[in-house]
Amino acid sequence: MSDCLFCSIAKGDIPADIVMETPDAVAFRDIAPEAPTHILVIPREHVESVARAGADRNDAMLGSLMRAATDLAVQEGIESYRIVTNVGEDAGQSVFHLHLHLLGGRAMSWPPG
Ligand code: AMP
Repeated sequence: MSDCLFCSIAKGDIPADIVMETPDAVAFRDIAPEAPTHILVIPREHVESVARAGADRNDAMLGSLMRAATDLAVQEGIESYRIVTNVGEDAGQSVFHLHLHLLGGRAMSWPPG
C-alpha cells in the first residue's frame, strides 16, 4: 500500500533501525520503545492485521514472523519476553500493517492495560 508507513519502511523509503531482514520479513526497533528491547517484526506483504491474514495464503508467513521474533530474542540476549500483536483500535493498534511487538529486558505485569 503506497500510504502505509510500514510498507515504506520495508521498501527502504523511510529509515528505521533495522535489525533483521529476510526475503519476506523485516524487523526494526520501535521508535518509542516500551522496554529495553522493543522490536517490531513485519511481513513485507501488506496485511492489515493478523485477523486479516488468510489461512490458506498466510499461515507460513505468520509462522516465519514468530520464528523471527524468537530468533531476535536470542540475538538480543533476552530469555524472558513478550510477543504481542494488537488487532484493532480498542486493542491499541495504531499502524494497520501486521506487526509483532517483541518486548523484553524488564519485568512486566499481567494483565496488560
Ligand atoms: P501498534 O500500536 O500495535 O499498531 O504499534 C505500532 C508501533 O509502531 C508503536 O509501538 C509505535 O511506537 C511504532 N512506530 C510508529 N512509527 C514508527 C517508526 N517510524 N519507526 C518505528 N516504529 C514506529
